[in-house]
Amino acid sequence: MTKHIDNESTKIEYLAYHESLTGLPNRRSLEDKVNQFLKTHKTPCNFALLFLDINKFKYVNDTHGYTIGDELLKSIATRLREKISSNEFIASLGGDKFVIALMEPSSEEFVAAYAKELLLLISKIFSVDDYQFRINASIGISFYTKETQDYNTLLRYADIALYYAKEQGRNNFRFFEIEMLDKINAKSQLEHDLHVALENNEFILYYQPLLCLKTNTCTGVEVLLRWKKKDGSVIRPEKFVDVSVESGLIGPMTQWILRTACHQLKCWRDSGLHLQHIAVNITAPYLIDAKFVDFIKQVLHEENLSGDSLELEITENILIEDIENTQLVINSLKQLGVKVTIDDFGTGYSSFNYLKRFYFDRIKIDQSFVSDIFRSQSDLAIVKAIIAVGKSLEVKLLAEGIETADQQQILTDLGCDEIQGYYYCRPNSVDIITAFLRRVELK
Ligand code: C2E
Ligand code: MG
Ligand code: MG
Repeated sequence: MTKHIDNESTKIEYLAYHESLTGLPNRRSLEDKVNQFLKTHKTPCNFALLFLDINKFKYVNDTHGYTIGDELLKSIATRLREKISSNEFIASLGGDKFVIALMEPSSEEFVAAYAKELLLLISKIFSVDDYQFRINASIGISFYTKETQDYNTLLRYADIALYYAKEQGRNNFRFFEIEMLDKINAKSQLEHDLHVALENNEFILYYQPLLCLKTNTCTGVEVLLRWKKKDGSVIRPEKFVDVSVESGLIGPMTQWILRTACHQLKCWRDSGLHLQHIAVNITAPYLIDAKFVDFIKQVLHEENLSGDSLELEITENILIEDIENTQLVINSLKQLGVKVTIDDFGTGYSSFNYLKRFYFDRIKIDQSFVSDIFRSQSDLAIVKAIIAVGKSLEVKLLAEGIETADQQQILTDLGCDEIQGYYYCRPNSVDIITAFLRRVELK
């Protein structure tokens, strides 16, 4: 009887200090271990906390299911544990998050080298069932210093450094720097301001007409988001789109944009203007949101618009994020007749494989190639090559950022179908663009 109780209590004790899936020490063990070490070592002591997170692990679960995902996490834990020696401690914080404590590392260089070894270890192929996984991780590192003398601060700072490691391009590590706190605070303030802005209807849409070079007519308009603050200043999307993606605000924001844009197209058509389509920029991850296609269907229905009245512009980075789901979404959009454009082509991975696989309706040649087309032989060569590929795949080509008559002429000579840029019309508010559209239709 006593033995049974002993066994039970040992089991309960074990569960209290270990993470259930991997069997690694858990958050509580880590806290105890770190506190114990800090208490028994006189300041200043050498101590580093490495916060490791597997990049895009969600996609393993999404594409292979949780059983395979769990097996992969166990293999990762085993591989990491094998590296740990007596002056080191590893814990799992659940899911794909691990923390490694280095007690008395000899130097910062040693910690950097250690982090690199961990990244290398994770990047080697994992085999689970019949699948092979090539994954990578990011690591944030905090050191015991005057400002970071307790467990919670050490963990928070390592977590903040991890955020920066990911932002820097994943498969990377970063040491915590105190300036990171200012940036994090500014970001949370922006996040808060964006929430308020959405509630207070501070977002407005600008529109920029697209010109067909063959017919010299305006075929459509691109919708460009602006944030009009109470003080009257107008903020461009580069300043806030990334934060709205991270905070999840991009979903409700894009819904508002799509609704407003489709309604505007309907109004223009009702007033006698002949616009073929309206183009809306869509940022990942909203594109692969489970309800995205249904939402598009609903908006088109509400405004009584056919699918081909709407064009969605996506950039190459969306494609590499989650190829399978993106393909499913694009196929469903195609069934509705909605057109899909690859935006800023040439600036990202520019894989011709994407062009073949996704059947885009239009390629937008990025403005960076256009701006230097007369000075740079290589930019000219790239524009020619993109046009040649587009033509052979029978995809429409649009050049962005046309600012001069010469640029428009050379793009026409090269066989580009459409252009967009300040030379034809600058992006502007609905009233100004409506007046512009009337003028060009009357010509
Ligand atoms: P984009 O989709 O490539 O949009 C074209 C950008 O080029 C716009 O900047 C536009 O104002 C600018 N532009 C147009 N013609 C010219 C020109 O002749 N010269 C120069 N120098 N620039 C020109 P904007 O409005 O600041 O937008 C920047 C980016 O922000 C967009 O690039 C798009 O990726 C993103 N974005 C804009 N609106 C939205 C939106 O509603 N939703 C989402 N998710 N992203 C948006
Ligand atoms: Mg665009
Ligand atoms: Mg673009």
